[in-house]
Amino acid sequence: IVHWTPFFQTYKKQRYPWVQLAGHQGNFRPGPEPGTILKKLCPQEEACFQLLMHDVLRPYVPRYLGALELRSEEPPTKVEAVAAAVEASQTATDNHKNNNVNNNNNNNNNNNNNSNSNGATACKDSYLQLQDLLADFDQPCVMDCKVGVRTYLESELAKAKERPKLRKDMYEKMVQVDPTAPSDEERRLQGVTKPRYMVWRETISSTATLGFRVEGIKLAKSGSSKDFKTTRTRQQVMDAIRRFVEGYPHAAGKYLQRLQAIRATLRASSFFAGHEVVGSSLLFVHDDRAAGVWMIDFAKTLPLPEHLERIRHDAVWQVGNHEDGYLIGVNNLIDIFKEIVGD
Ligand code: ATP
Ligand code: MG
Ligand code: MG
Repeated sequence: IVHWTPFFQTYKKQRYPWVQLAGHQGNFRPGPEPGTILKKLCPQEEACFQLLMHDVLRPYVPRYLGALELRSEEPPTKVEAVAAAVEASQTATDNHKNNNVNNNNNNNNNNNNNSNSNGATACKDSYLQLQDLLADFDQPCVMDCKVGVRTYLESELAKAKERPKLRKDMYEKMVQVDPTAPSDEERRLQGVTKPRYMVWRETISSTATLGFRVEGIKLAKSGSSKDFKTTRTRQQVMDAIRRFVEGYPHAAGKYLQRLQAIRATLRASSFFAGHEVVGSSLLFVHDDRAAGVWMIDFAKTLPLPEHLERIRHDAVWQVGNHEDGYLIGVNNLIDIFKEIVGD
């Protein structure tokens, strides 16, 4: 059962409230050791973290401490977690290339039912144990920016194109955001196809134009907001980021430096050259003293197909070229922070 409380959760034993700005609440739990969190395991993401721990990008992603299996709702103990991590790391290496075709980011299909010694059935879930990026901060402000010019995989678009039915529900969502979006034909039919809707949806935020969008912001002194679905223009995005760093005069400069270091490292990374990075975020965290940015969420980061050795990440996406526009997003973020620092 997923319990929905608005994007905010206080973990026992921690001195700070843990903030989650995206994804299902049920996908995260406190980790077995302090300073770590558990995210529901997706094999694709696990494979990425295994590679990233040996890549030049390592300083810019959360530390990965292994996979482990836990019964649902049971708090992990340290001993149990270490044993499970050893076991899991031996079985989970070969999934990466194999997952290339039909990855659908379904985190919930790794439940197996195991009988325990009492004969009762316990449900087990697999998790990735990750560094909690908030752990070193005091009353942190947090921003999640989803990077790239699209947030769906080429395979997801291809699947949507297989039997494109007219969707009334998608037509209605479209009209709600922008009554002028449907074509005359779509208006007459009162429906749009799913691929059409997927492509359109990236144009209501800054994703298609700036190569990133704000997913959520949590300020230290107020609640979190995910109300950025239609934050689209450069000016709107800049205003949101300005509010995010307001009152923390050191933050923008530190973010700028860190983003420049990330960009330089991306250019040197063999992991980055050989992967299509979709739906991944940059997580910005600051408090009164410090500020940092990390790359998170690799559930839709896939190795390129065999015939492609590398992509540029700053080229225009055309169906089939696998370009993700990740560097377009990073470049625009750098420009925006430069402007904020210059104020
Ligand atoms: P979605 O695909 O909808 O973006 P997801 O289930 O893949 O969600 P993530 O994007 O990885 O989950 O994380 C969701 C949120 O949890 C992030 O926006 C961030 O607030 C928080 N989070 C994720 N990983 C970490 C981490 N290592 N340290 C601190 N916070 C994290
Ligand atoms: Mg995410
Ligand atoms: Mg995700």
